[in-house]
Amino acid sequence: MREPDLAKPILPGSAIGVLGSGQLGRMFAIAARRMGYRVHTLSPDEDTPTGQVADLEINAPYEDLDAIYRFASAVSVVTFEFENVPAETAAAAARCAPVRPSGQVLHVTQHRLREKTFLAQAGLPLTPFRRVNNPDELTEAAEAIGLPAILKTAGFGYDGKGQYRVFSPADFESAWQAVGEAEAVLEAFVDFDREISVVAARSLTGEFIHYGAIENHHEKGILDLSIAPARVASTITRDAVEITRTILEKLEVVGVLCVEFFVRKNGQLLVNELAPRPHNSGHLTFDANVTSQFEQQLRAVCNLPFGAVTQLTPAAMANLLGDFWDPGEPDWAAAASVPDVKLHLYGKLSPRPGRKMGHLTALAGTGEQALADVKRARDSLTRNSKPRATDL
Ligand code: AMP
Repeated sequence: MREPDLAKPILPGSAIGVLGSGQLGRMFAIAARRMGYRVHTLSPDEDTPTGQVADLEINAPYEDLDAIYRFASAVSVVTFEFENVPAETAAAAARCAPVRPSGQVLHVTQHRLREKTFLAQAGLPLTPFRRVNNPDELTEAAEAIGLPAILKTAGFGYDGKGQYRVFSPADFESAWQAVGEAEAVLEAFVDFDREISVVAARSLTGEFIHYGAIENHHEKGILDLSIAPARVASTITRDAVEITRTILEKLEVVGVLCVEFFVRKNGQLLVNELAPRPHNSGHLTFDANVTSQFEQQLRAVCNLPFGAVTQLTPAAMANLLGDFWDPGEPDWAAAASVPDVKLHLYGKLSPRPGRKMGHLTALAGTGEQALADVKRARDSLTRNSKPRATDL
């Protein structure tokens, strides 16, 4: 790979490699194919949300470095939709094509301790935490930061997985078992007023663009509802955007990165976690903004100018987890009868509880109306659900 080529825009017609093959890759592939790019995806799975839309779906473990070489040699740039790929995978891909964001960004953000250490060293506000490597350290950490607290696995955690709430020393043993008796982080429990996120992108030349603050509501540690713009004071949005800018700059991100925040009752912001890719809270940009977070990722990794982030209308998003299939096949016609609601399904075949199967986005004159519409549309899905073919 010759250095001067790196700055050249990667133009439509070129092939883009996506590591990972879930719904984020699917929406990226839709944006990329719309602009005339080809998309290759690699993951250990078959008939995947991304693979169903991509030009080429490669089925190989991330550890199969020969497959990674072949995959990366056939594309102009490699990006990812799943950050928990081994460092060796990103390094192997980087021998054949630019990897954007870089393996270093993955390295920091795929491990809670490294991420928190980076944030603390950058002087950014975050929840008090301690590293926990054994039961004794858990006791010491709880004394240092107080209870209640949350014990989280250090590596490969997402959507509240590998987390355990600790209310008293009686919970220590189960908490330590819940994180697999492996390196973990004890985090103070934050009594927050709201959760918000900022989805932003940074170009090869350091240009920064963002979607403002999006408000998020979680259920059992999984995102349930998002509203944009977030219902917070403009000073909070401004501060969250500035923190996000600092993070993208310090990490030298080329691509999209989302910062999740807790907003305390006194207005103080604490960074919760980083996702070095488009984020569930930004899905509403697909319908509500001139340029979606997925197209922005494409533009960033291809070194094309950014598209406008202008939000055309207030919007709200509701996730559709596998649980919605519990009473039977959701009543899609009922959801479609709310005219300003858009349905997104990810092509996943088995609707397991907690699995992200799709989402709904509502567009309306106000965030409140969008929220009411999206909830109404989602509620209507289960009202007349049909028995699933497999249940008959
Ligand atoms: P995470 O996967 O770490 O982002 O956690 C998922 C969700 O769990 C967050 O969005 C919060 O709703 C909740 N949560 C995680 N950590 C904390 C904390 N330290 N204090 C309060 N709630 C938390």
